[in-house]
Parts: sequence; structure tokens; C-alpha cells
Amino acid sequence: MQASPKVRRLVSLLSRLPGVGEKTAQRYVLHLLTTDPQVAKDLGHELGTLHEELRPCERCGNVAEVPSGSLDGDEVSCDICTDSKRDSSLLCVVARVHDLMAIERTGSMKGRYFVLGRLLSPLEGIGPEQLPIPRLAARIQSDAVTELIIATPPSVDGEATALLLKRELGELEVKMTRIASGVPHGGEIEYADPITMGRALAGRQAL
Ligand SMILES: [Zn+2]
Repeated sequence: MQASPKVRRLVSLLSRLPGVGEKTAQRYVLHLLTTDPQVAKDLGHELGTLHEELRPCERCGNVAEVPSGSLDGDEVSCDICTDSKRDSSLLCVVARVHDLMAIERTGSMKGRYFVLGRLLSPLEGIGPEQLPIPRLAARIQSDAVTELIIATPPSVDGEATALLLKRELGELEVKMTRIASGVPHGGEIEYADPITMGRALAGRQAL
């Protein structure tokens, strides 16, 4: 395609998104050109303010909206952490925000979350000290958590992380459970359908 420099710039930017190749990026650009111009304007506005309006939740690591009028250094809390109907004694540990969202889609999680941000991975040089275990331990104590559901993926790194948490947090008076193996081994939690994920959560077992 003999594209204009602007089209090429847009295609090059869109192709940097996960799962978007050059052809898909071209389709997006051509679609935006032929559809209601407001869509492109809204998209541009939302993307332009993404980093100002969203930040990681200080308590759990989920994506949180920054309240208008707050300053750069202000801490923000997500909807789940501020929802008083959630059971604060039940805390679900996940590797990434994608996994939190997959569990939320099941509609069966009544507690709150803690996002590790990464998994233990000796091959990638990620050791125990690079995981936010002290912050997790503090959260367990401050919220008087009675059950910690470990929902790291059923991969080698996910299992190693679950065992590490069991070892490091074993001293605390908290029951630790592991989601059942409804999610295929080596599979990604974010791609599990809500029914499978709901079953994995309901069938959790003591770790
Ligand atoms: Zn939160």
C-alpha cells in the first residue's frame, strides 16, 4: 500500500500494540477514516489523557481512576478497594491486572485483590526479593485477612510463586488456598472463560 506519511505513522504506532500486526493496523486506520469522525476524536482524547487519568491503585495494583483535582504524587484507590460491600477478609493474589479482570468477569469473587505485578522466574532473573511480599504481608495484617486465594497461573513460574508465598507467609495466621486446576496447565488465566474460571475459584483447595 502506497500510504501517506500520516497513515504510515499511525500504522507504525498501532502495530506496537499486542496482537496488532501491520495489516490490522491498516484496517483500523482505514476504518477510522471512513466512519464517524467523532470516533477518532474520542479515541484520541481518551488516549491522550490515559496516563493522567489512570494510575495503579496504591492498595492492590489494579487500574484506578485519578479523581479530578488530585496532584501528581497523590495516592489513588480503585473501585474494588473502596467498595464497602467487598469482604476484606478474603484476598486474592494474582500476577497481573489482566488476571484480576478475568476473575472479576466470573462475578463470584466477593473479596478484594493483590496484584503481584510479576512472577518468580529464575530464568528471567526475577528472584523472591523482586516480589512485593512485604507489602502483601502488611496488607494481610492491616485488613485482618483470613483467607488468601493464590490465583497465579498454573505454569512453572506460577506454581513456584504460589509455593514461595506459602513459605514466606506461612507464619501469618491466614488460610492459604490455591485455585483448582480448571485453568489448563500452562494456560493463561486471562483467556480462561468465566465459567471455567468460576469453577477454578469455587474448587480452590488448601495450599
Ligand atoms: Zn485497589
